[in-house]
Amino acid sequence: MPRAYGELKTKLVAERARLVEEIQQPGSGGEERPGYGNHMADDATGVFEQMRNLSLRDGSEDSLRLVDSALARFEAGTYGTCEDCGQNIEWGRLKTLPYTSLCVECVRRHERVS
Ligand SMILES: [Zn+2]
Repeated sequence: MPRAYGELKTKLVAERARLVEEIQQPGSGGEERPGYGNHMADDATGVFEQMRNLSLRDGSEDSLRLVDSALARFEAGTYGTCEDCGQNIEWGRLKTLPYTSLCVECVRRHERVS
């Protein structure tokens, strides 16, 4: 496993902690946090904005499931491998969507099918 995957795991663990906190505090206005995110000055900000949008749209528990399954793939040693075709998922894609389990080609194929 490429060493750089470690930084993705760190992001996933951090996101998981945030989601768990959000789920455990229903009605606390998790989406309204003035200044939240300002400390994340690196290029991960966009990813977490996407994750936040995802959690607002589909519910934090769904997001948590995605993050959990990604972390499970780390434990299994299969992280970064497409669940469909078994090829390595593109690094740029993993950096953008750390919890993804499909490569670009398979996502396109699924989109054509559906
Ligand atoms: Zn694939």
